[in-house]
Amino acid sequence: MKICDAHIHLGKSGPWQPYMNPTIYTDTLIPLLNKYAVEQAIVFPNPNVGDKYPEMNDYIAESVKKYPKRLVGFGRVDPRRNDAIQELNRIKTKLGLTGLKLHPFVECFRPDHPFFNKFFHKTNELKLPILFHTGDGFSSPGLILKIAKKYPKLHIILGHLREASINALAECENVYVETSGTLPDFIELAADIDENRVLFGSDIPYYRYPTQIAIVEAANISQKTKRNVFYENFRRMLNQK
Ligand SMILES: [Zn+2]
Repeated sequence: MKICDAHIHLGKSGPWQPYMNPTIYTDTLIPLLNKYAVEQAIVFPNPNVGDKYPEMNDYIAESVKKYPKRLVGFGRVDPRRNDAIQELNRIKTKLGLTGLKLHPFVECFRPDHPFFNKFFHKTNELKLPILFHTGDGFSSPGLILKIAKKYPKLHIILGHLREASINALAECENVYVETSGTLPDFIELAADIDENRVLFGSDIPYYRYPTQIAIVEAANISQKTKRNVFYENFRRMLNQK
């Protein structure tokens, strides 16, 4: 089955993951996409503490220029920084990137705090869809849902589909979920709500294709729904901007 992947990290690693090195460049990534028949993928920088994101965004833009049919570039911005809005503008207008990846735990910010109103206002104005890491604390789907409700035209993708994200999917039509690290049961529940808003994601290089593809394959959903999750939904979402 043809695949599009909504969650890949690309470029050099930040000072994280002391037990592994997640640095991955296009010369490794493109053959990997070919091996698993991944036609197109959203790529964005590895986690960092903020000051390195601009140069990491540059590498994403360079990679997209080299492989425009295979890669869709999302930028990373630390919303706490004074130059955050400037960098948002730069990734869209100068680098031509398509969206934004945010990790409220790594970048240590509470999405619904009023300090970030201007940041999200600008993201919405620039029409940059956001892929949010979701988890506990600042990354909880309930907090991210507040942003989705405030900007109903902005596509919000909740990474690592978890149980709490299923409510968000039901409540807001601009919310999508992404499957890296999830369970087949959650994919079944999400597809019951809207099979057109579930996107396959691998979280390469932190997870591996055989396990992430197997999670979707194991879900008790129709072949048509699987095709939507693996491929069609991704293309529809990006064309819908
Ligand atoms: Zn990730």
